[in-house]
Amino acid sequence: MIPVIRSLKLSEIPYIRFAMSTRHGGVSPEPYGMNVSYKVGDSEGNVTANRQRLFEEVGIQQKDLALPKQCHSARALEVESGGQYESCDGLVSATPGIWLGISIADCVPVMLADRKRRAVAALHAGWRGTAQGIVGEGVRLMSQAFHTEPEDIVAFIGPSAGGCCYEVGEDVAAKFSPHVFKGRNGSYLLDLKKENKLQLQHAGIPEERIEISAYCTICTPNLFHSYRRDKERSGRMMALVGILSS
Ligand SMILES: [Zn+2]
Repeated sequence: MIPVIRSLKLSEIPYIRFAMSTRHGGVSPEPYGMNVSYKVGDSEGNVTANRQRLFEEVGIQQKDLALPKQCHSARALEVESGGQYESCDGLVSATPGIWLGISIADCVPVMLADRKRRAVAALHAGWRGTAQGIVGEGVRLMSQAFHTEPEDIVAFIGPSAGGCCYEVGEDVAAKFSPHVFKGRNGSYLLDLKKENKLQLQHAGIPEERIEISAYCTICTPNLFHSYRRDKERSGRMMALVGILSS
């Protein structure tokens, strides 16, 4: 058993599965532990073994996993099979048995599920993607591809850098409404989870269908990797969402 984060609201939908890894349960030496990224200085063999442990825990076959390349854009793609997808930060799918994954260590993973039409989205919302409105783009693409009605969507905004810790400069703060950051000693604390929640509501998702994880990756070092906290020597977690095949 390896520890994973679950979502209360997504787990209420019988044919949807969601899980997100933490920094525990992997084979890599510290500080990596359960690290799923090949790009952070961890050994390739260890990362492959970590991913295998996570996939076994969640019940995924590698060939069924679809991953966006993640380039801090607001572009999402519809997918029907596993693989790596270039030049995008979000994937949507209505294909049972296919899993969508997002790799994170402070950026916000936002998972959407259409409880009526059996469709899902996995979106990577760092400050750049959030400023460009990636979650609204995910909702728009689900509506276009699957005739999703926004009021049928259940959303989970996952563990990520919290408004308690995520300091940004004036240039970044200027891209967001004053409602989502507060000043502290001449700097700004940005609440990206709140901003993404507001964007989801703006896209038509009812507030009561949006769950926000209380976990901040930066100030919960016993559970999560954080790039902001640990710099280059930080691992990555993976958030996964899928539709059961039967
Ligand atoms: Zn914090």
